Amino acid sequence: SVAKPSFSDTQGYEAGRTGQVGRVLLAAKNTSANKKIIASNGGFVMKASNTMRLCFDSRSANESFARTAVAAFLCGLDPTVEELTDVKTAVSEAVTNSIVHGYREKIDKVYITANIYSDNRIVIKIKDKGCGISDVKQAMEPLFTTAAEEERAGLGFAVMESLMDKVKVFSQPGKGTTVTLEKQIVSKGESYVHNSRG
Ligand code: ATP
Ligand code: MG
Repeated sequence: SVAKPSFSDTQGYEAGRTGQVGRVLLAAKNTSANKKIIASNGGFVMKASNTMRLCFDSRSANESFARTAVAAFLCGLDPTVEELTDVKTAVSEAVTNSIVHGYREKIDKVYITANIYSDNRIVIKIKDKGCGISDVKQAMEPLFTTAAEEERAGLGFAVMESLMDKVKVFSQPGKGTTVTLEKQIVSKGESYVHNSRG
């Protein structure tokens, strides 16, 4: 039988991130080679077929809540275990950045919206009203960090880029940061239903 995506992910999650960092370092020079091509919609604006919004305090305990909640929302798309793990890891990196960099010592709100489009494309926005980033291009470079003394590796954005089809960062110093993550989910459809029911 096929393993179903799981929401309870306390065990093995950190190991997953560590493995991911190795993968990213190997692929760092050629991340675009990993990316699937997103089908063009011919320029008209597509309406989301399902949407959700979340708002929570920037406490580190809420990082696992956020990735689990987004994963639960996406389960209607019937993603593969790997797709779900990739999205959870990317959301986790963005939320962690809002908590540890955006708000630093203080507690404030982190906002997530997720939209599912009829072509199985998902768009997830993670937003904070924290300190912002003065040089986004530099911040997104693999191994760049402003928190080396806290043993940060500077790989969060590289991990997001390697796991998602598109990563966009909009930031204004003193106002906050919005990270937009996009990925096409290749639905398992009927073969999954058939396999999982024996
Ligand atoms: P790691 O993610 O490996 O623990 P890191 O968080 O420093 O290390 P990235 O996630 O790639 O690495 O982020 C790079 C840098 O961008 C951070 O060190 C920080 O200076 C800045 N940054 C990222 N997200 C935010 C944010 N939401 N608000 C303010 N600064 C941010
Ligand atoms: Mg980070």
